Amino acid sequence: MKFVYVSGRRCLDFAGTMRHRTSTREELLTDPRLLSDWAVQAGLLDAGIDVTDDDLAAAIELREAIYRTVIARLELRRPQAADVDLLNQWSSQPQLTPRLLRTGATRREGTASQLLASLAADLLDLLAGTDIENVKRCAHPDCIRLYLDASRAKNRHWCGMGTCGNKAKVQAFRARQRASSGS
Ligand SMILES: [Zn+2]
Repeated sequence: MKFVYVSGRRCLDFAGTMRHRTSTREELLTDPRLLSDWAVQAGLLDAGIDVTDDDLAAAIELREAIYRTVIARLELRRPQAADVDLLNQWSSQPQLTPRLLRTGATRREGTASQLLASLAADLLDLLAGTDIENVKRCAHPDCIRLYLDASRAKNRHWCGMGTCGNKAKVQAFRARQRASSGS
């Protein structure tokens, strides 16, 4: 499973593990092991960890609370009270912490609960700062992934040029070709 990390924030990348939140929703975390894979590929952990079915259910519950809360913010609405409680519960738990070894190397390890606590805290950090003003939904209608627009001009429309930006360009090019050929 190849996950995508283009959102600029871990909590937003995590929200993206439910793809295409429109008519063709696609759940990427279909197995507990995949949560561990996601965290390793995200660079949050050096090696895979044990994830139970309950951990996965909690992760998905937290992910949806993260997503709803960001959307509420983008739409200038209050977050749902249950989501607020859940996010506060998780963010107050012990988080993943890197460890320095005597050799000078570092280790990033932890438990599934610490992983979820870190993701909840990342969202709260995002909401507390000014970056939240630059969080957008990808303009590609099949994607709508959340991402942080870190461009200087704040004029990014796509979650990634390698993905949706190119697709949109190709579609626009084909539309122009069709128009100019008169068919
Ligand atoms: Zn996109």
